[in-house]
Amino acid sequence: ELTLEVDGLTKIYPDGTLAVDEIDFGIEAGDFCVLIGPSGCGKSTTLHSIIGNIPVTEGQVLLEGEDITETPTYDRDIGLVFQDFQLFPHMTVRENITYGLERIDCPPDEIERRVDDAIDLMHLEGLEERTPEELSAGQQQRVALTRSIVLEPQLLLLDEPLGDMDYKLQKRMERELLRIHRELDTTFVYVTHDQTQAMRLADQIVVMNDGKVEQSDSVENVYNSP
Ligand code: ADP
Ligand code: ADP
Repeated sequence: ELTLEVDGLTKIYPDGTLAVDEIDFGIEAGDFCVLIGPSGCGKSTTLHSIIGNIPVTEGQVLLEGEDITETPTYDRDIGLVFQDFQLFPHMTVRENITYGLERIDCPPDEIERRVDDAIDLMHLEGLEERTPEELSAGQQQRVALTRSIVLEPQLLLLDEPLGDMDYKLQKRMERELLRIHRELDTTFVYVTHDQTQAMRLADQIVVMNDGKVEQSDSVENVYNSP
């Protein structure tokens, strides 16, 4: 069963740049997929096409078998975590996490329950009343993750979420991500240019180069192939 199917996706920007050239790949439900490739190969373009931030030139994006190519971003059941967190600076941790649920008119008692569960899962107890500037980088990224996870998306996209962190914190956050992935049973797509990170995290790897998908396979097959 596939959570995500990208079918013949092509993106040409208004200035004529062919960023993504007829790519195909599928992601199995519950997998931790790493989308990897050098800078400029089309990873962000692919990610923003999946989330719906940019119109695609050609091809389809399917979520759980349903064509969402024309669906507005806010109606796609997809979460996104950025490298620079993008928390609301004037809101507390709890308000940051609650905001999305209020936007979808979730009943107050359900908001309470889901936010408490997410704070518990992400080990954010005691930080709820802080603002983002009162948190370390690792804590901010945990809040950014919590804000996405609390909406229970079918698919969670992570755009180089550990990119700016030092090595020690990166390794710790990787372990945290693997734990959360296991506990949530959600499909993850993690974008990076870092091969060692990909090997540590991935069930499945999609290798991009120069606007094309070169390989899409299990981590074992990608790194053992000639
Ligand atoms: P990556 O995320 O792998 O670094 P991108 O998807 O950002 O790759 O970029 C793929 C190609 O598309 C690059 O050649 C980049 O310069 C180009 N590109 C990205 N965004 C735009 C844009 N808004 N307009 C024109 N070209 C773009
Ligand atoms: P982490 O465990 O996420 O790596 P650090 O080791 O960087 O956090 O920070 C240790 C402690 O210092 C944490 O409990 C955190 O709350 C606190 N702390 C870090 N940065 C700040 C800050 N800018 N303002 C207030 N407290 C901070």
